[in-house]
Amino acid sequence: MEISVSESQTNFLRNLIQEQIAAGEYRDGIVTRFPPEPNGFLHIGHAKSICLNFGLAQRFSGVCYLRLDDTNPDKESQDFIDAILEDVRWLGFDWPGEVRHASNYFQQLHDWAVYLIEQGLAYVDDQSPEQSRKNRGTLTEAGKNSPYRDRSVEENLGLFKKMKSGTLDEGSCTLRAKIDMASPNMNMRDPIMYRIRKARHHQTGDAWCIYPSYDFAQGQSDAIDGVTHSICTLEFDDHRPLYEWFIDQLPLPSRPRQYEFSRLNLSYTITSKRKLKQLVDEGRVSGWDDPRMPTIQGMRRRGVPAGSIRKFCEMTGVSRAAAGTVDFAMLEHVVREDLNTNASRAMCVIDPLKLVISNYPEDRIETFPAAGHPSRDDLLQRTLPFSRELWIEREDFREEANKKYKRLVLGKKVRLRNAYVIVAEQCIKDASGNITEVRCSYEPETLGGDPADGIKPRGVIHWVSATHAVQAEVRLYERLFNQPSPDRGGADFIACLNPGSLEVRS
Ligand code: ATP
Ligand code: MG
Repeated sequence: MEISVSESQTNFLRNLIQEQIAAGEYRDGIVTRFPPEPNGFLHIGHAKSICLNFGLAQRFSGVCYLRLDDTNPDKESQDFIDAILEDVRWLGFDWPGEVRHASNYFQQLHDWAVYLIEQGLAYVDDQSPEQSRKNRGTLTEAGKNSPYRDRSVEENLGLFKKMKSGTLDEGSCTLRAKIDMASPNMNMRDPIMYRIRKARHHQTGDAWCIYPSYDFAQGQSDAIDGVTHSICTLEFDDHRPLYEWFIDQLPLPSRPRQYEFSRLNLSYTITSKRKLKQLVDEGRVSGWDDPRMPTIQGMRRRGVPAGSIRKFCEMTGVSRAAAGTVDFAMLEHVVREDLNTNASRAMCVIDPLKLVISNYPEDRIETFPAAGHPSRDDLLQRTLPFSRELWIEREDFREEANKKYKRLVLGKKVRLRNAYVIVAEQCIKDASGNITEVRCSYEPETLGGDPADGIKPRGVIHWVSATHAVQAEVRLYERLFNQPSPDRGGADFIACLNPGSLEVRS
């Protein structure tokens, strides 16, 4: 069932686009994209970005592409790609045409790099990584020009060709944009456009041994895709001048614009793929889709409905405010509300105690209808088999208790949900005094409601018929971390793992 989400939450991008359209811009519609790097499974933070990008496209009758930002062959894989496609669809979104890949644009990106070399705006730098780092300067100190910065166009073209053909070693040189080593913005200090990396790529195989940097790939890919609003998180705020510099210098087919919003942070959660990967690699969880993981597949396995993730993303708003942290309890609340409204009910006894109804015939089996949901009649009715021997929850019985205890007590009445009222008569114990069985009698006339003259039962407890019950392993999940900010300030998030986050009951 669709949860309707109001548009009351502030979303500055939605407001902005509304104004742009009102001012006559984007007459052909807006284009957004969701650009994950396929180096891990998507998590709740990505869900936020997915809902934002696909949501804006839907809202303004535009399109949103799924484009894999696959420029780093080392950490990427087809498995991650498959998981990403599945997750975006499961969340309820789809993209027009084929999935796009930054790697499909490698040839075009290469040709634009050559173009910049020809314009005298890019050069091959032979400095070692250490030297470049040293000469990059600091936030308060200008960088130093590379001694290779003034190579001729011909020399640069020749060297870039060699980089591409594989005759140069990894790390021996890079292609850099020639911008300004004294810029107060570190990203403008002759940023790297290409590195040599002799690694097989999951899409392009061995075709390339040079790979473009994020900064050289992102904006140009956006331009190829005709993206109008290139939305990213605030860490890329000071990359925007570089994003625009490339757009200004290159003969691109369109002019995208970058907008930043603050990323979603959730308490008791980490949303760094690198750290999530560490949990998987070290076996701290059963995999990327472990139900305790904040990944879309983990949440899905735990039973979180896609609609509640969308609702949560909408509720948390979109702003440029310094990244605050959303309380994990808010996500849990949205999920509970959704499940309470939409989930079919079932009865399960986790810690079983045998209940024998002494006045119920041994070979009798009755079946009772039970509503699928207490307030919805569109959910499937269940049929509950009932017999002389039942399992009830151990904590639902006490030999004696005060009136606050609304369950079964020796000598008192309780209703078995959807069935009869019973009276507990006797409990049987083993040698060490543990209760092994409760004997009771049932009141045949109490089916379907309490008789007007009868003594009201204390409460209602759940049960399953011992002969009909299905064996199950129940896994009880708690939060994965026991600290609100497991990785703040570089803290050791492994030490914050909640040892009781998974309890298995067989
Ligand atoms: P990580 O740092 O965990 O690797 P990432 O941002 O590098 O995450 P990408 O695959 O590049 O991962 O992200 C794809 C898109 O999802 C980007 O546009 C990114 O801004 C967005 N995104 C990632 N994390 C969050 C978050 N916590 N909140 C909102 N958007 C996010
Ligand atoms: Mg990224």
